Amino acid sequence: MWERTERLLTVHVQAVSPETCPALVLNADFRPLSYYPLSIWCWQDAIKAVFLDRVNIVSEYDTLVRSPSFEMRLPSVVSLKSYVKPSRFPAFTRFNVFLRDRFTCQYCGERDDLTFDHVVPRSKGGVTTWDNVVAACSACNLRKADLLPSVARMWPARHPYQPTVHDLHQNGRLFPPNYLHISWMDYLYWDSELEP
Ligand SMILES: [Zn+2]
Repeated sequence: MWERTERLLTVHVQAVSPETCPALVLNADFRPLSYYPLSIWCWQDAIKAVFLDRVNIVSEYDTLVRSPSFEMRLPSVVSLKSYVKPSRFPAFTRFNVFLRDRFTCQYCGERDDLTFDHVVPRSKGGVTTWDNVVAACSACNLRKADLLPSVARMWPARHPYQPTVHDLHQNGRLFPPNYLHISWMDYLYWDSELEP
């Protein structure tokens, strides 16, 4: 029985695919290059950067890659050798809009079944930008339809705005990303102790 367990375990470890081993990319100051989206490279890009001498390996997976001439552990965290000035504003993505609104319907506070609502409807000239799009549950979205807030008598809890990376970082602590390798934790939440 023991033997069997051991054998299964061994097979499992060997079966770890490099595809499941992305590398977290830190800037030269050891902060992630970007948070939203989180800066991660596939293992091929990480290894290429190591060979081009553009990054230092900070931490490694147990998974090995081999070629006839070398063998190495896949990097789990790398840091850039030269500092890149991070952008102050995060990308306008669906995830980031939800994150800004803390995954909460801006009309009723519901957290399930979230969609996006144009505060000024597109049919009334509303555009798809940070300051006109909010998270809304499908019930509120249906109810508001293509009406202006004043007609629908529905106003978002918070006027939509363009968040800074800092804003999203604050909210991001409430909603950790789905995939976090243990070796990334120190770099993602290194300043979290400053929170009361
Ligand atoms: Zn709602």
